[in-house]
Amino acid sequence: MKYNIAVIPGDGIGPEVVRETILVLEKIGELYRHKFNFTEALAGGCAIDACGEPLPEKTLKVCKSSDAVLLGAVGGEKWDSLPGNKRPEQALLGLRKSLGLYANLRPAILFEQLKDACPLKSEIIGDGLDICVVRELTGGIYFGEKGQKNTNFGKSGYDVEIYSEEEVRRIAKDAFEIAMKRDKKVTSVDKANILESSRLWRRVVKEVAVDYPEVTLNHMYVDNAAMQLIRNPKQFDVIVTTNMFGDILSDEASMITGSIGMLPSASLGGNIGMYEPVHGSAPDIAGKDLANPIATILSAAMMLRYSFDLEKEAYSIEKAVKKVLDQNYRTRDIASEGAEVIGTKEMGRLIREALI
Ligand code: NAD
Repeated sequence: MKYNIAVIPGDGIGPEVVRETILVLEKIGELYRHKFNFTEALAGGCAIDACGEPLPEKTLKVCKSSDAVLLGAVGGEKWDSLPGNKRPEQALLGLRKSLGLYANLRPAILFEQLKDACPLKSEIIGDGLDICVVRELTGGIYFGEKGQKNTNFGKSGYDVEIYSEEEVRRIAKDAFEIAMKRDKKVTSVDKANILESSRLWRRVVKEVAVDYPEVTLNHMYVDNAAMQLIRNPKQFDVIVTTNMFGDILSDEASMITGSIGMLPSASLGGNIGMYEPVHGSAPDIAGKDLANPIATILSAAMMLRYSFDLEKEAYSIEKAVKKVLDQNYRTRDIASEGAEVIGTKEMGRLIREALI
């Protein structure tokens, strides 16, 4: 089969980790007889330098005519003083909006080999963790009415949390579908004891659950969920939640996996998914062959699974990553005592070699 992938390397370590990922995908192509066509496009700081805007029209065109988008990371100090709507990160919001990406999947996986990097006690994490946070990405308080107004007591600021039944229904369905491919358990996180929008959220999630009798559903208030993630993270399989709660909980979940350099993500919704590591452009280590490419390589595995339905190939990448970690090779960010510390390129090469 032939697959067209738009590639946005971006800034900082983005091009380094994306390069290794493309090489991994090419090797998968050879092994499983697929043809991946890569079309590079600019977004972020490098696009501002080249064309004066973070998300050039040409880049959007490339993405819209592809089957999936692979993104490195954008941003850096050089562009920090630009006004909000001209900053590199604006490219991410623009891409999500234009591609209709309303669901953000962030698996928080703690590999057994990296238990030392987890800040929780070993009796809490046991043989590792595998949680998938499904965050609603284009609704809620981040997109609701907002502003500042004069009142008798000085200025007031406000942001409105608002969800339609349809917005909740589609993200809930995605969460149940994902759970069907995993341990068949969904935890819906809200604040239904206080918020009207959460009461609607909970009702719609319950309605969707009727179509998935094999999946166990429970509901949890967000404050409790934040605590349970630390107290007993193994109770979770899929967590589905709103834009703001998901933003916070997915960062908390990512921390218990040790390094941000290990965490992939997928943004889904329309016909074209976007896959990127959770980390940023890490300007402090850019160009030094120090970046961990695993988050981006695992994002490519998610691309194979969710956009192309290539489960075997996705699993092959995940298995190769585990094998290299088993052999005790580590980039600096995940290195513990006794490990063989290697650079970005060598990590990429070893993962390619381990693919079967
Ligand atoms: P960051 O994720 O870039 O870096 C945080 C820390 O983690 C740094 O010490 C960095 O060296 C380390 N790190 C990150 N990725 C790593 C990897 N793959 N391997 C090894 N170490 C890694 O976050 P930041 O420093 O807050 O932001 C830097 C820039 O990235 C900013 O301009 C920010 O706006 C941007 N950013 C972009 C995205 C994105 O493109 N999706 C996300 C977050 C931040």
